Amino acid sequence: MRAFMWIVVAVVVALVFFFTSQRSSRDEAPAMPEAETAGTAAGAAPAIGLIDDARINAAASEPGNWLAYGRTYEEQRFSPLTGINRDNVSQLGLAWYKDMGTNRAQESTPIVVDGIMFFTSAWSRVYAVRADTGEMVWSYDPQVPGEWGRRACCDVVNRGVAVYNGRVYVGSLDGRLIALDAASGAKVWEVDTLIDRDRFYTITGAPRAARGKIFIGNGGAEFGVRGYVTAYDAESGEQVWRFYTVPGDPSLPFENPELEMAAKTWKGGNWWEIGGGGTVWNSIVYDPDFNNVYLGVGNGSPWTRVIRSPGGGDNLFLSSIVALDADTGKMKWYYQTTPGDNWDYTAVQDMALADMEVDGEMKKVLLQAPKNGFFYVIDRSDGTLLRANKYATVTWATHVDMETGRPVENKDLDYTKHEKWVLPGPLGAHNWQAMSVDEEAGLVYLPAQDNPLIYGMNQEWKQTGLYKRNPGGWNTGIEFGRIAQLFVDNIAEQPTPRGYLKAFDPLTGKDAWVVEIPHYWNGGVLGTAGGLVFQGDALGMFSAYDKATGEALWQFNTYTSMLAPPATFEIDGTQYVSILTGNGGGDLFSGEAMDPVAKPASETYGNYGRLLVFKLGGTETLPIPDKIDKTIPEQQLAGVSEEEIAVGERTYNNYCAVCHGLVVRSGGAIPDLRLMTEGTHQIFNQIVLEGVFAPKGMASFGDVLTEEDAGRIHTYIRARANEDREYALGNVDAPKLTWQN
Ligand code: CA
Repeated sequence: MRAFMWIVVAVVVALVFFFTSQRSSRDEAPAMPEAETAGTAAGAAPAIGLIDDARINAAASEPGNWLAYGRTYEEQRFSPLTGINRDNVSQLGLAWYKDMGTNRAQESTPIVVDGIMFFTSAWSRVYAVRADTGEMVWSYDPQVPGEWGRRACCDVVNRGVAVYNGRVYVGSLDGRLIALDAASGAKVWEVDTLIDRDRFYTITGAPRAARGKIFIGNGGAEFGVRGYVTAYDAESGEQVWRFYTVPGDPSLPFENPELEMAAKTWKGGNWWEIGGGGTVWNSIVYDPDFNNVYLGVGNGSPWTRVIRSPGGGDNLFLSSIVALDADTGKMKWYYQTTPGDNWDYTAVQDMALADMEVDGEMKKVLLQAPKNGFFYVIDRSDGTLLRANKYATVTWATHVDMETGRPVENKDLDYTKHEKWVLPGPLGAHNWQAMSVDEEAGLVYLPAQDNPLIYGMNQEWKQTGLYKRNPGGWNTGIEFGRIAQLFVDNIAEQPTPRGYLKAFDPLTGKDAWVVEIPHYWNGGVLGTAGGLVFQGDALGMFSAYDKATGEALWQFNTYTSMLAPPATFEIDGTQYVSILTGNGGGDLFSGEAMDPVAKPASETYGNYGRLLVFKLGGTETLPIPDKIDKTIPEQQLAGVSEEEIAVGERTYNNYCAVCHGLVVRSGGAIPDLRLMTEGTHQIFNQIVLEGVFAPKGMASFGDVLTEEDAGRIHTYIRARANEDREYALGNVDAPKLTWQN
């Protein structure tokens, strides 16, 4: 089994999802049958009060509601509710649940106000339900075209809505910002936020609302885009300001004045043609204390700086936290976590605001654990760095120099010439799965991971010194075509992937306690004044831990994996805790888990998109699914050369693996192509080249792949399937997994 350890590794993020087999029957077409563009109202909806800036600012006076993405403007995700607490949490039970009718990942944080819960599901669908019973109030389907799914690096996910001044705002996967009437779900207005609809932009993050404006960013840096954030007038949808995070074509004027300074940190190369990156796909936080909006800015596009900016430079504002004036979009300060990003180290992870005593003085601070493994405490008044402690295993840098505020890179792990295992990998030491800040305890409850990648330069660049943008796929500058070979050849040095829930002190860098979880890719976190920390994990356990010790006080088996952060609210004196289930997101590429990483529940039982709501004494039960039958059918492979399989492997890795999984082993959320039926095999080319499954999310790749390419991919899939079949039957000691040499 040791021989397979490498597969486990959670490389990255996802590209493009590819083939769909008949196992996809649970993943429906993206359009809901009943919805057009208007909301579908049903049931008697309790009227909700207006949510405005004043109400969110006074959130402390209504602890029973969850008014904004991270509960309040501070986004601490720590609830003052105590109805469910250490002493009675053992009586927590399921109150109700709702099937979301999809097996794609669920990442949404609900907004709960005056008895109504507003949340999103896959394909940017919006739901309003009675929070005490689950009864549907209305639903809205923005009708995202199924083929747009191919443009999503990390699944067709959505992280939630903003509810503000009588409206519900959602960003759709295909780049629209949509305002709905909060009472009926009817569309009020819609704007196209994209500067270029040919580039692979997506929106997966929740909009934020403040000062009469809606703030929204986007993703797509893996494919090659340029990042920016736009503020729209909440009432009319008119654009108020736009802030580009990276400079564009140097022959054109700067769109915002800050880019003049930023452009001096980009040297040589043609980053603007590839995109530059710097997408703000998750965290945007409004700070009423300073009227700031903080942007969490993403990685470079491409990832590799030697291609992106061959003359060196910090490449502002990649991997930075940028403070803007909320009204004008003018920059006040920035802090760059990873100058010259070379590893996909986004700083888009959730940011929380807090008041904290630092070195004997009360400070208004911003807290963030970006992918790069350092936990930053920053003075919100001027951007001064106060702390940068490691919160997980970090090998790319030794430490952050507190004089300069810059990380000190580990030169031994320069991968320009030779491939190197680096921690963290592109999934980060922490990703978008939200943390919870316990101001009183001075702790952060943090879902962290050690998750390496073997980084190596793109083979063609190594051979020719040139990099050609691929308009239909990923543009990372990293070698993906031979990634399986890199794993196999270097397995002995691979650091072991691990997951953790940590109670972390951001000032001292010390852990108060650590729960080790046998899979790295787990859910977001909620803390409560009832002394509890809630988290759903990959193994399917929704747990309540004692926030003082990390002891598990209660667990509920959901039989499916979780990523979404829990939320809590109170209605008529009863406290509820909610969580969405369903795995996927950025970890599709890793595929099947292998020893010593435990199998996620979604791989064993299936991936079930559900909303679960718990209360004390709840007696509802979930259906217990059967284990998935993973018997691999025998494949016909007569007369195929090893070289054809090798070419197919590289093409599969470049276009298919990021969704369907490394070495054709799916992690559960996307169809496992080894299990395709003969009927699916027969229409393989129509699926891949003609898009016959596009409505299900499997778009045509006819723009980038030829019939010959598709044929070789098909051959490789069959070869991998046969290897794993023979292994399962005990006919071989170990599959070789790669045909590269
Ligand atoms: Ca990225």
